Amino acid sequence: MTVRVRFAPSPTGQLHVGNARTALFNWLFARHHGGKFILRIEDTDIERSTAEYTQGILDDLRWLGLDWDEGPDKDGAYGPYIQSQRMDTYRSYIEKLLKEGKAYPCYCTKEELEKRRAQALQEGKPPRYDNRCRNLIADQKKAFEATGIKPAIRFKIREGNIEVHDLIRGDVMFNAAEFGDIIIQKSDASVIFHFAVCIDDMLMNISHVIRGEDHLPNTPKHILFFEAFGAEPP
Ligand code: GLU
Repeated sequence: MTVRVRFAPSPTGQLHVGNARTALFNWLFARHHGGKFILRIEDTDIERSTAEYTQGILDDLRWLGLDWDEGPDKDGAYGPYIQSQRMDTYRSYIEKLLKEGKAYPCYCTKEELEKRRAQALQEGKPPRYDNRCRNLIADQKKAFEATGIKPAIRFKIREGNIEVHDLIRGDVMFNAAEFGDIIIQKSDASVIFHFAVCIDDMLMNISHVIRGEDHLPNTPKHILFFEAFGAEPP
């Protein structure tokens, strides 16, 4: 297997020690295995991302002596390496999921969702989305569209267990019932970063994902995206 790993910072602040550590481990792993180290800028959060922070990350990595083989300033076969330049790609995959019935428009407003969440918590129930827009019929959708509400797009979470093979933690089991169907595109048409990450890891042929442990609870959802596209997760 060709080792291809990535460091994927969000340029919403300066590079911190935790980022540097993640970058270092990826770089070492790539160099040890004669693989590729890819730098990907995850700026899907347009409001918080800036060009200055991106530049700062590039400068700081260079200062640390961590060179990359593919990245925003070093084109490889899998670019562009800046997520804001890949939006059409993400949208085409969202279209594919909609067509295959693996995703659906959700017309619930933020206020409604918050209210239901608060109520669930009060009743001691898990505050997850109740999937109520999953089975809307055409007429119901039409009625919502007529009100001018712009829908979010939700991904259908399948039933059963999801196993995460983590080289450090071992096999970690999650129950899909813990999750409600997840938003992959917000009502303002922006794509959520979890989705973008998986599309990129898939298209950039990433072999191993080395990242902060805070991402472990996100990984089962990521695995379901890979499953939906019939792709082997890294
Ligand atoms: N952009 C994410 C972050 O900065 C990293 C996502 C990932 O490594 O999968 O936390």
